[in-house]
Amino acid sequence: MSEVHIYPVPETFAANTLVNSDDYQRMYRQSVEDPQAFWSQQANDFLQWSKPFTKVVDEDLTKGHAAWFADGELNVSANCIDRHLPARAEQTALIWEGDDPADSKHITYKELHEQVCRLANLLKARGVKKGDRVCIYMPMIPEAAYAMLACTRIGAVHSVVFGGFSPDSLKDRILDSDCRLVITADEGVRGGRKVPLKANVDKALAHCPNVHTAIVVKRTGANIDWDSKRDIWYGESVAEQSADCAPEPMNAEDPLFILYTSGSTGKPKGVLHTTAGYLLASTMSFKYTFDYKEGDVFWCTADVGWITGHSYIVYGPLCAGAISLMFEGVPTYPDASRCWQVVEKHKVNTFYTAPTAIRALMGAGDDFVTKCDRSSLRLLGTVGEPINPEAWEWYYHVVGEKRCPIVDTWWQTETGAHMITPLPGATALKPGSATRPFFGVQPALLDEKGQEIEGQGEGALVMKASWPSMIRSVYGDHQRMIDTYFSTFRGYYFTGDGARRDADGYYWITGRIDDVLNVSGHRLGTAEIESAIVLHEDTAEAAVVGYPHDIKGQGIYCYVTLKNGREPSEELRKELIDLCVKEIGPIAKPDIIQWAPGLPKTRSGKIMRRILRKIACNELDSLGDTSTLADPSVVDELVDHRANK
Ligand code: ATP
Ligand code: MG
Repeated sequence: MSEVHIYPVPETFAANTLVNSDDYQRMYRQSVEDPQAFWSQQANDFLQWSKPFTKVVDEDLTKGHAAWFADGELNVSANCIDRHLPARAEQTALIWEGDDPADSKHITYKELHEQVCRLANLLKARGVKKGDRVCIYMPMIPEAAYAMLACTRIGAVHSVVFGGFSPDSLKDRILDSDCRLVITADEGVRGGRKVPLKANVDKALAHCPNVHTAIVVKRTGANIDWDSKRDIWYGESVAEQSADCAPEPMNAEDPLFILYTSGSTGKPKGVLHTTAGYLLASTMSFKYTFDYKEGDVFWCTADVGWITGHSYIVYGPLCAGAISLMFEGVPTYPDASRCWQVVEKHKVNTFYTAPTAIRALMGAGDDFVTKCDRSSLRLLGTVGEPINPEAWEWYYHVVGEKRCPIVDTWWQTETGAHMITPLPGATALKPGSATRPFFGVQPALLDEKGQEIEGQGEGALVMKASWPSMIRSVYGDHQRMIDTYFSTFRGYYFTGDGARRDADGYYWITGRIDDVLNVSGHRLGTAEIESAIVLHEDTAEAAVVGYPHDIKGQGIYCYVTLKNGREPSEELRKELIDLCVKEIGPIAKPDIIQWAPGLPKTRSGKIMRRILRKIACNELDSLGDTSTLADPSVVDELVDHRANK
């Protein structure tokens, strides 16, 4: 196997960081040996309580139970806005960058306060009460953040549904969490194209009798249908409301929001997070993982419809009093240099995105990057899928000019905040490894018998103890939460992912456990084989799955997407096979390579291997839930050209 490069902490970081390597050791040890003391201090440092807590944690993972700071009270919007007003009323809270490069604006903490209070009062005027569910189906405009915060101000529980979902997917989510009110816009704008949000809401609400109000932001001024009993305009209605709204004191364990997982592995789950633990973990990890310093401009490219947008566009940054950039568009519009233009324009210090975007931008060529000034960048981040070392190196050398550490953050909708991640001033980096656990996080690897693996090894990734932002329930189906996360291995939280731990105690996520291949008795992670394939300069992306094989048990089936302008050939097929053998070993020799013009992805950009597995196994009648696919036509194309007929 090729050698792993190690990138030490840059001296500039080590000299001027919130957490250096000694701090990490000390704080991590305290966080697991004396959680009571560690978490009391963090919760008091990072959050403002209207009623102090006296208990830290009460947990029983055999029952999937955890309660954090359970007798404390606080309000999320007061923590994200009001408490910053004395010092930073005039400081920018949000920088909004529109889809059109000519559109942008700054929103101060004072303006944020006014907007959130007015909308909170409007929600109350429409009868929304503490505990009611509100659906937010919005483009990436500041009103999306106002809507989330306005819900928290009055104790309503939001469920943000990504604006790229169809009317049917929206309807399912509204019904599943029984939302009573929807906040939307006439249209969204993404990559120069209009998205008919209000028309989608109209179709969805035809089947949702409990929704009494739709609040509509005017984004484009398009002609839309109007139900005068149900629909009200956002702008004129909030203008009539008072700009003062006292924050509702909430119990630490009161529900904060519901968010549906991306659906990579099956029917999406309505993950429920609660108030204090979630806010603490998202804020703390924001500060420490991104080494956030006063005045830094932080840009997370995720959509607020995903957990990454919740934790690292809205809650973490705002609770920390940061400047958070919200981007309405896509990385490739007007062209593939858009991200770097935005970095130059707003002097972005930290840029946080997903491997799917990094691979796409890498495929577009270096000129798009190098023609923009990236000297403001200090730190880069990635999340969502394992990042292939090839893409990591490109991100590091080309985008970050060898100056910026990369934080590869492993976490899940269910974990609420970073779980395994480097801290840039404390952790030497290995491309492709999410490195070490965050404070209070106690990962373990289990073998097939459910025994903990000590030292180096590979197995199912689980957590031995709860952490503040752990999932509390699957909305409306508590048993599904217990079955999914707490039943596979008794007494542990099961992540569903596999991982390897190396001699330095670094974690390498190998992919979903269900996707792990068993080839002639050897267990192989999909991520490793895919990384080997994309080392080839002609390949853009790869997805690997297993299929039944008479001799080996499972054979290795690879879907390979080539870079623009490259052609498939027998010679290339041989080169890719040789590459896998050279990088991993003869056991990893692919049996089948199918050239794939595109790969099926979720709307958050993740490869859906379960569908690819069905195609490889010729189980075409049972493709499962495909409602979260970004482009279903990709599947038809792959089925038509199956290599395994
Ligand atoms: P579903 O649970 O519905 O199948 P999903 O798991 O894709 O959807 P998310 O919660 O958005 O929904 O994604 C979490 C998963 O993403 C993790 O379990 C892991 O498989 C993958 N992941 C996230 N970050 C990383 C990372 N840095 N490295 C490797 N994998 C990652
Ligand atoms: Mg998942």
